[in-house]
Amino acid sequence: MKPYKNKINRIRSFALSLIFIGVIVMYIGLFFRKYEIIMLLFMVIGVISILASVVVYAWIGTLSTRAVQIVCPNCGKQTKMLGRVDMCGHCREPLTLDPTLEGKEFDELYNKRKSEKN
Ligand SMILES: [Zn+2]
Repeated sequence: MKPYKNKINRIRSFALSLIFIGVIVMYIGLFFRKYEIIMLLFMVIGVISILASVVVYAWIGTLSTRAVQIVCPNCGKQTKMLGRVDMCGHCREPLTLDPTLEGKEFDELYNKRKSEKN
């Protein structure tokens, strides 16, 4: 079974890892102080990945406004879901907005099938 996660949480952890990668890459660049070009290259890559994470964070912001806020039937907490199927951000309960999919096994393909029809 694949480890499904709430989409917004997943994108958020991706943005967070970009920041870490940027910082680590810049830190590695410090070891190449003797070679200015290599150090500069590491610095630029680090800055780019941090900027990318800022972009991803902004993207999460716009996604969040489109996301539907619902109360999870399993844990009773509020969570945001994207698309037709998503997971609760707290307990990973599969959630769906489509009544025809209710009770079916969770499958992220449902989101893709919808976009194929469009
Ligand atoms: Zn839940």
